[in-house]
Parts: sequence; C-alpha cells; structure tokens
Amino acid sequence: MATCLIALGSNLGDRAATLDAALDALAAAPGVELVRHSAWQLTLPVGGRDAQPEFLNGAAVAETSRGAADFHSLLQQIEAQLGRERHERWGDRTLDLDLLRFGDAVIDTPELTVPHPRMSFRRFVLEPAVEIAGQMVHPTIGWTLERLLDHLDAGADFVAVVSPDATARRELTAMLSGRFDMTACAPAVVNERLWPTASTTWLAVPTGRVSTENPKLTILLGLAAASEVGRGPTLRIAPMSRDDAEREAFAAIAAVWPRLGC
Ligand code: ATP
Ligand code: CA
Ligand code: CA
Repeated sequence: MATCLIALGSNLGDRAATLDAALDALAAAPGVELVRHSAWQLTLPVGGRDAQPEFLNGAAVAETSRGAADFHSLLQQIEAQLGRERHERWGDRTLDLDLLRFGDAVIDTPELTVPHPRMSFRRFVLEPAVEIAGQMVHPTIGWTLERLLDHLDAGADFVAVVSPDATARRELTAMLSGRFDMTACAPAVVNERLWPTASTTWLAVPTGRVSTENPKLTILLGLAAASEVGRGPTLRIAPMSRDDAEREAFAAIAAVWPRLGC
C-alpha cells in the first residue's frame, strides 16, 4: 500500500460540487481508500491568462494498492468523467487532480513526475496539504510540508538562480529584474554547498526582507543532477526554450509573491 497526497482544483462550473464528486469517485475506485481531505479554499489563479475565475483548491490523502502510473491514470479518468477538457496549460478547468506524492517514490517519466515538480513553492497547494498532512516529508527536498509553507511566510525575500551556464543565468535574471523590479543582492552568509557563489545570482524582491536565511525560492536552471535536499522551495527548469523558461519562472514567482508585479 502507498500513501498518496492529491491536490484538487476547480475554477469552472459548480466548483465545490465537482471537488466533492471527485472525492466520491476516488473513494469508490477499486484499490483506493480515501483517508482524509482538507476544506476547500478559494485562491486567486496563478500562471494562466489574466482575469481567470478564482480557483477552489483542496488536498486529499489516500491509501492505494495500485501502482503510481495506474493511480495517475485513475486521476485522469476522474478528471475526464467530471468534464475536464485539456486546452492550454494553466487554463480554466472544471477539475484538476495532481499527484503530489506517491509514498516516497521519486518518479520522472514523460507522463508522470512525482513529487509534483511545482508543489514546493505553491501556497495554494501547500495550504490545504498542510491542513491534512503537515508532517509529511517532501521526498526530494527533505522538509516537511509544514516547514515549506512556513518558509513561504517567513523566509528571506529573495530568489537564488543557480546555473553553471552564466549566459542562461544572466538572461533569466535580467528578465526577472525587469518584470518584477528585483535587484541583485549578495547575502552576507551563504551555504556554499547549496548556492555556490560561482554559479548563483541572488535577486531581492522590492521592499522585501533580505536576511541571511535560505532564499524563499531557488531556481535550478538546467541542473538535472543537482540535489534538492535542504534547499526549501525549489523550481527546477530543464533545458528548454527561453520563453518557456521565463513562463515557468514568472508563474513560480507569482505563486510565492502573489502581489508582486501587479
Ligand atoms: P501544473 O502541473 O503546473 O499544476 P496543470 O495541472 O495545469 O499544471 P495539466 O494540463 O493538468 O497541467 O497536466 C499536464 C501534464 O502533466 C499531464 O499530461 C500529466 O500527464 C502530466 N503530469 C506529470 N506529473 C504529474 C503529476 N504528478 N500529477 C498530475 N499530472 C502530472
Ligand atoms: Ca495543477
Ligand atoms: Ca494537472
């Protein structure tokens, strides 16, 4: 049996009824036992087009005897049954079911990445998850979900962009500085192992609190082999087009600092 953590979201139709129906469908599926779920919380959309309807978000813990790929297919079937149509990424949807964690598994296939690659810095994912599973440990970062959420509230207001490719790092940081009014900064004390001076650029959020704690967000750019352990909220950007990398970084920063750049 594996203990799974699932994120639920909806911003179209009768959102609460859809999320309730998704839980019913999970509970009724063979080989799945629904253990508990959070309250549904209203959150502003992040990453999609402007003026999207608000999301209702939640989280659920389930036990399953199914394998990870099979369990993920079940989530997709439930999305489809409840009217999900796939158009654009981060677009409006009647139902989104993301597999945040599947036991301690670390999976990276074209169809499924676990733990969910964007869970560590999304408040709208962590808040409901912490309500029901705050002591659950993020398998690749090694922090509890509660600690990740606390860090988004209390951590130092800067971003560390880590990449040995100085050009790619310069391009991304220039874009972030322009878009969000961030400024280069140099923390007084740095953990060299996690944020090596030679390959890290630090950006401070305007009017933020810059101290010597870990950054609120680390962006790992094209560093497939770098470990996430101990970093706290982390966005890993695989080698991809510059536009896609910017979009990923924008959405992550908007999730961490929702009022920035408005
Ligand atoms: P995000 O993943 O950033 O929350 P999204 O939920 O809008 O974005 P979708 O359009 O629902 O993205 O899914 C895109 C693809 O992600 C799907 O084809 C799915 O196979 C894949 N995927 C990879 N890992 C996961 C996971 N852990 N949970 C759900 N889907 C995943
Ligand atoms: Ca999602
Ligand atoms: Ca999804």
